[in-house]
Amino acid sequence: MPALERWVYSFGDGRADGSAAMRDILGGKGAGLAEMANLGLPVPPGFTISAKLCLTYLEQGTFPDDLREEVDRHLKQLERASKKRFGAAENPLLVSVRSGAAVSMPGMMETVLNLGLNDRTVQGLVASTKNPRFAFDSYRRFVQMYGDVVFELGKEPFAEVLEEFKRRRRAARDIDLPAEDLQALVHEFKAIIQAKRDVPFPDDPVAQLWGAIEAVFRSWRTRRAVDYRRVHGIPDDLGTAVSVVAMVYGNLGDDSGTGVAFTRDCRTGAKVLNGDFLTNAQGEDVVSGARTPRAIAQLKRGRLAPVYRELERMAAKLERHFKDVQDIEFTFEHGRLYLLQTRRAQRTGLAAVRSAVELVAEGRITPDEAVQRVPPQDLDQLFHPMVDPRAAVTVVAKGLPASPGAAMGEAVFDADQAELLAKQGHRVVLIRPETSPEDFHGIVAAQAVLTARGGMTSHAAVVARGMGKTCVVGATDIDVDPHAGRLRANGRVVKQGQLITVDGTTGRVILGAAKLVEPKIGAHYARLMAWADERRRLRVRANADTPGDAKRARQFGAEGIGLCRTEHMFFEGDRITAVREMIVAPDEAGRRHALARLLPMQRADFEGIFEAMAGHSVTIRLLDPPLHEFLPKTRAEVTTLARAMRLPVARLERLVESLVEANPMLGHRGCRLGITYPEITEMQARAIFEAACRVVARGKQVVVEVMIPLVALAEELRRQAEIVRRVAQDVFHTQGRAVPYLVGTMIELPRAALTADAIAKEADFFSFGTNDLTQTTFGLSRDDAGRFLPFYVEHGILSDDPFQVLDQEGVGKLIELAVRLGRATKPELKIGICGEHGGEPASVKFCHRVGLNYVSCSPFRVPVARLAAAQAALEEQGVINRTKATV
Ligand code: ADP
Ligand code: MG
Ligand code: MG
Repeated sequence: MPALERWVYSFGDGRADGSAAMRDILGGKGAGLAEMANLGLPVPPGFTISAKLCLTYLEQGTFPDDLREEVDRHLKQLERASKKRFGAAENPLLVSVRSGAAVSMPGMMETVLNLGLNDRTVQGLVASTKNPRFAFDSYRRFVQMYGDVVFELGKEPFAEVLEEFKRRRRAARDIDLPAEDLQALVHEFKAIIQAKRDVPFPDDPVAQLWGAIEAVFRSWRTRRAVDYRRVHGIPDDLGTAVSVVAMVYGNLGDDSGTGVAFTRDCRTGAKVLNGDFLTNAQGEDVVSGARTPRAIAQLKRGRLAPVYRELERMAAKLERHFKDVQDIEFTFEHGRLYLLQTRRAQRTGLAAVRSAVELVAEGRITPDEAVQRVPPQDLDQLFHPMVDPRAAVTVVAKGLPASPGAAMGEAVFDADQAELLAKQGHRVVLIRPETSPEDFHGIVAAQAVLTARGGMTSHAAVVARGMGKTCVVGATDIDVDPHAGRLRANGRVVKQGQLITVDGTTGRVILGAAKLVEPKIGAHYARLMAWADERRRLRVRANADTPGDAKRARQFGAEGIGLCRTEHMFFEGDRITAVREMIVAPDEAGRRHALARLLPMQRADFEGIFEAMAGHSVTIRLLDPPLHEFLPKTRAEVTTLARAMRLPVARLERLVESLVEANPMLGHRGCRLGITYPEITEMQARAIFEAACRVVARGKQVVVEVMIPLVALAEELRRQAEIVRRVAQDVFHTQGRAVPYLVGTMIELPRAALTADAIAKEADFFSFGTNDLTQTTFGLSRDDAGRFLPFYVEHGILSDDPFQVLDQEGVGKLIELAVRLGRATKPELKIGICGEHGGEPASVKFCHRVGLNYVSCSPFRVPVARLAAAQAALEEQGVINRTKATV
């Protein structure tokens, strides 16, 4: 380590050594405190120890030689600034020791308050405040937190004793305990530590300080912090800084208090100062749920009105300065306001859109910044039902918002029960301590999933997100008893069958049936998307199989259809019999007979889709049926089909049996069908071109792209394309008009990617079928992956489910190669991607970078893809995302 490197940075008194630009060193919290001090805002003085020390400390267990000296010097400076002395018997200085990484990880790491107290200094505190209740309240909080954080004993052993004291006094709240009880608690807490750790509680404030500093560094590696980083893609090597801050006291009485304020409403985005506060309280009291906090609006009138006005003024100043919605921690001591933290506020998708657009209108940020600021995946929330922001709700607990949307149903505590009730038509919410693969069917059956344990990558979270199902996990206040069929949370009980609402967007668990509303897609959204569309290069299409889907896709802003799967049309109504006839037909004549019946049905569907897309490109994929899904299964199905085909049942059964494949995913599917039975390709091409001609005859425009699936060999594509072009000429000739069309292929097998230069000779376009390409690259069947993939993600073997987030390292390499090879043959080759990945932000950005022309995804994901594409374009131009630079 270079000798001159600096480890400690002071702040306070209208100035600071550091600033908001130094997040990497000071952490978000330390940087924010420094910046607020520089702005002249009332921040208690303190200093921050560099996050750069965190990893070396964790790995080697040591600090640089000069650190103690440097901390000592800054502690002296802090004593001068606060006019108090650390460890002094008179007017002692107390400090908080706080964690804070460069990226905000709310509540994931540790903090100790009121450090510096011992049996001597506490008397100094009594003397200087004449308030023994306050002094011993601070002392017991300190020992309690120290036992939890530094001695790593957890919260429970202390909470139990505290509850016991409250019961004895019939006290509802801890502030109702008299000073002598609080003093007794200090002894009890110390005794717990002595008993469990076999060491006395450290009396020396300097020893206390170092114990806490080391514990804060250690908290970087707690399980929940590690999990949180994994889910949010935060690097493990950032480390946390440690901020040591002079205490200010919200627990000095009714003219003191603490709270959290947001400069705008984080659910709706409306510009109103809001949040919660408590009087005669400290630290986490507001969020811990131990007492019910009051809305900040209640500060407006009465004795504390000056505090409100100050807060309002400072909140406005902070938002102006940071150009973003702020989440502010404050404390007032005898009516005097202090700010203890400011950071970018977490918000719902709705609030993100509204606040970004309004900040542009207020002249704070540019449209570029607004576009960069909204996380694309959060747009998803705009189309899910949400809890009416105006409804009064009873929140029983809060957990981690694992999968967005809100849903309600009857509480059910067992997966089998959930499945049973759902089959009977009940809407159920599955509640478990945590879930495991055995609960899978219950998750499928439920409207929403709620677990008491587990992080954002727990089984329940991963599975529910994958299914787009509402989910809250890690609601630690909830005590689930599956055997008794009930949960307890913060003094409330919910029994099996009672209605409960889960809000996966905010993590709230709400008693009863909360009013759910479809979020309004208003002017703010339209504005933001217009900005996004102006900025992106990548086109966005939708996967749509029916005229209804096509219309919805247009409403979401799709610029064409990137994948229209023809086999999906076959499932509908009475068509299935014709399809089955075609599949089991023993010869070509039989197949042609069935195909002739299918032709008009397909043609009608294509007409509807072409109409809906009004001149935008429509990519139609020729038949790629999962054969086994179409084969008749039940006795009744077999009999019906036998009758339709005028075949003896036994004969039909033999035919069906001969078609069963050991591994349908790698079997007789895709273009392999059209190769062996060209009449299928002929029929589909005819249906497509006849439909196109009819729509054109009505004066509309049509752009057709015919896509050949599952090609591995250039020769397969050449043969299929030949058929399509021949039929097209034939139809145009008879109809007396021509329609522009392209013939291309899906690239969904590794061999196709590896030989893309040869394949491009036969293709007008490529479309990456990333679902199959992922299956075949990994050699794993998606249908069977449910048994082990969640485990892989939960245990960090894979960072994400590769069917949701494109595996850029492996599958992505094949894509890049195929793009390069394809364009080497045909520089103008049009290339897109279809499959779930087309609507996943990181994958969309990847597609932009490797030079694709478009992505295609499910209609609901189209807005997500549009915004992600715009962000990718801005990133490429090097437009700096200042959002990331704010604390
Ligand atoms: P977290 O990162 O979990 O929010 P913090 O370090 O911000 O942890 O601290 C926890 C609580 O203690 C917050 O409510 C904070 O405002 C409060 N707090 C921290 N330091 C002080 C202090 N010096 N004086 C008063 N309250 C403090
Ligand atoms: Mg905080
Ligand atoms: Mg496929």
